Amino acid sequence: MAISMDTPLTRVLGPKTAKVMAEQLALHTVRDLLRHYPRRYARRGEMTRLDGLEVGDRVTVLAQVKSVSTRRMQQRRGTLTEVTVGDGAGSMRLVFFNNRHAHLDVGEWGLFAGTVGLWRGDKQFSHPDCHIITGDDDDWARALVPLYPASKDVSSWVIQKSVKLLLDDAHSLEQLLDDPIPATVRERHGLVDLATALRQKHRPENQEQVDSADERLKWDEALVLQATLAARRRAAALEPGIARPGRRGGLLDAVDAALPFSLTDGQREVGEELAAELAREQPMNRLLQGEVGSGKTVVALRAMAQVVDAGGQAALLAPTEVLAAQHARSLAAILGPLGRAGELDGDPEGTRVTLLTGSQKAAVRREARAAVADGSAGIVVGTHALLQEGVEFADLGLVVVDEQHRFGVEQRDALRAKGTRPPHVLVMTATPIPRTVAMTVYGDLETSTLRQLPAGRGGVSSSVVPVGEKPAWLDRAWARVREEVAAGRQIYVVCPRIGDLEDGGKGDDGPDDADGAPPPEEKGGTSDKRPPLAVLDVAEGLRAGPLSALRVEVLHGRMPPEEKEARMRAFAAAEVDVLVATTVVEVGVDVPNATVMVVMDADRFGVSQLHQLRGRVARGKHAGLCLLVTEAPSTSPTGQRLAAVAATTDGFALARLDLETRREGDVLGAAQSGRRSNVKLLSLLDDEALIAEARVEATTLVEQGRGLADHPELAAAVAALALDERATYLEKA
Ligand code: ADP
Ligand code: MG
Repeated sequence: MAISMDTPLTRVLGPKTAKVMAEQLALHTVRDLLRHYPRRYARRGEMTRLDGLEVGDRVTVLAQVKSVSTRRMQQRRGTLTEVTVGDGAGSMRLVFFNNRHAHLDVGEWGLFAGTVGLWRGDKQFSHPDCHIITGDDDDWARALVPLYPASKDVSSWVIQKSVKLLLDDAHSLEQLLDDPIPATVRERHGLVDLATALRQKHRPENQEQVDSADERLKWDEALVLQATLAARRRAAALEPGIARPGRRGGLLDAVDAALPFSLTDGQREVGEELAAELAREQPMNRLLQGEVGSGKTVVALRAMAQVVDAGGQAALLAPTEVLAAQHARSLAAILGPLGRAGELDGDPEGTRVTLLTGSQKAAVRREARAAVADGSAGIVVGTHALLQEGVEFADLGLVVVDEQHRFGVEQRDALRAKGTRPPHVLVMTATPIPRTVAMTVYGDLETSTLRQLPAGRGGVSSSVVPVGEKPAWLDRAWARVREEVAAGRQIYVVCPRIGDLEDGGKGDDGPDDADGAPPPEEKGGTSDKRPPLAVLDVAEGLRAGPLSALRVEVLHGRMPPEEKEARMRAFAAAEVDVLVATTVVEVGVDVPNATVMVVMDADRFGVSQLHQLRGRVARGKHAGLCLLVTEAPSTSPTGQRLAAVAATTDGFALARLDLETRREGDVLGAAQSGRRSNVKLLSLLDDEALIAEARVEATTLVEQGRGLADHPELAAAVAALALDERATYLEKA
């Protein structure tokens, strides 16, 4: 039978095995199975020793059968087989019912996998998974036995046997595999071919083989990813957009004249870079990363103004309604009459700033859409609502995506597709990005960085308030809040939960929170006995208690949009002293008079989220203070994570910490879910050099000669990844 990578497993394995593999492990094709790598390898000397077992451990042990006895059970029907096994260090009991494994022979060695239980004071396994090692078992003759990610009905041995079936067919394996890495690249980097790598990974003779297989298989992942990105870059470069050169005496000049401050050097440099790129026909695709508070919005506004001056429209996509409304408001404020063209007091030389969000009343939205469609709105600010069908631009020249970490590549594309010709694209993120992430998740973009904060910032200091250990500190914190308010400042108090009836203990209904959440093993940081603190409860407690003399208001995602907007406006106008909120204030909210950020149950938030939250109070000339309130013991991993956040304001250091505490898939997954399945071995933390080399190779392969057409195997792998991404996107949508 001729098999290929795409042959369904139902045709090569038993139907039952194939079915459970598909259902429980999502392994459908030969490719899936060959790419289902061992998680680790068992060695004779390194198996869990019987004398070291703890009750409740799920382990695999290697042991020899010492005795077997089968008897009829007294309390119920059937038989019970008791097997004693030993490994020289200790012994344990295995029990099986109804003659299963009654045939085990004394002296046989086997691998036994199960959960350690206790019976009359002795450790035992009840009906463990058994793999008896027979004399001709070449699986066991090996020094390293692969242990696979398994499931309830598909044990590691079953996977091992199934893989072996594919690998043993030596002839077909070589034919089966199209090696996506061209021979020249393999040679240059000393990589084994794919068939060899898979054999070495699944059935290694020694650790060196595992290592060389890993290196090679990581290259697969990196090269396919980088080729995908390089192809995107190339396609974008080949499809001309429209040049949007600047014009003297236009909106941009008016903006510059209206700014109440002078630009930082960084803003000026990046501004010039953008101005030059916008003036070219080839569409700009640029990522602007800059610390929280570094002033990205102004940079974006200036780029938008240039595009309006050239006769085009600019769209600014924001992740939350609060942020979209704030942007629209502050852009309108800077532009003044220039942002109200067509209105009575508007300047006919100017344009219109239009807000478009999902919660607007139908009539308002209709009007906004009309202004977008006829081009009278030169600057359009909105949320996901901008992406919807039916939103048509007259001439979309520039797409700005704010807080990119909240959006995926698909959304970027959806907005880009609204231009008649590809618009220029600027994406902005305040979460500093480690180089590996920049090269992968954002690898189709050029990067600019704003490192400098505007002069005269007070800076922010942070402390952990460990209420479990030092309850009095919380009283001191509220006292500090009262002092700040007395000095004319304002305060944020952020809680993980809203606390209304619809609230099932979850956070706010903001978009995709996957990126900032703490790692799952740390979720227990706050005592599991109580739900996380809620906005409504905390606000009530503060009004009734320590902050009774202050104006305390709440803000969260389930308030009606007008109310949310009004509340935010009131806070910005200093009519509210203390705003108790969910993470709706996390991104971008800008009230320079706010100086204290109190985060309740801080352990419930991820590192980047905390850094973002803290960024809300470092925005003016006054010194900021961020208090991370937690019940987590200071010595716990959670406590230490919080201490690390408090100890540094270096976004890049924190980004790295964030990467360490999150799973790989989450990092990629937050931005482009489809890539997750492609990345199994590659580590964004450890493989920077490899990723960088793969990027260089991929770029060359894509740009030389006929590009990917000269490398059909790589092209096929790139296409498969694209399909995968598309599928995941459709699933999500
Ligand atoms: P972020 O980069 O986090 O999006 P913003 O664009 O919201 O930061 O800017 C933060 C604050 O700094 C805003 O209040 C903005 O008006 C102000 N700002 C921006 N650029 C400058 C500058 N060059 N000098 C002084 N203040 C500035
Ligand atoms: Mg911002």
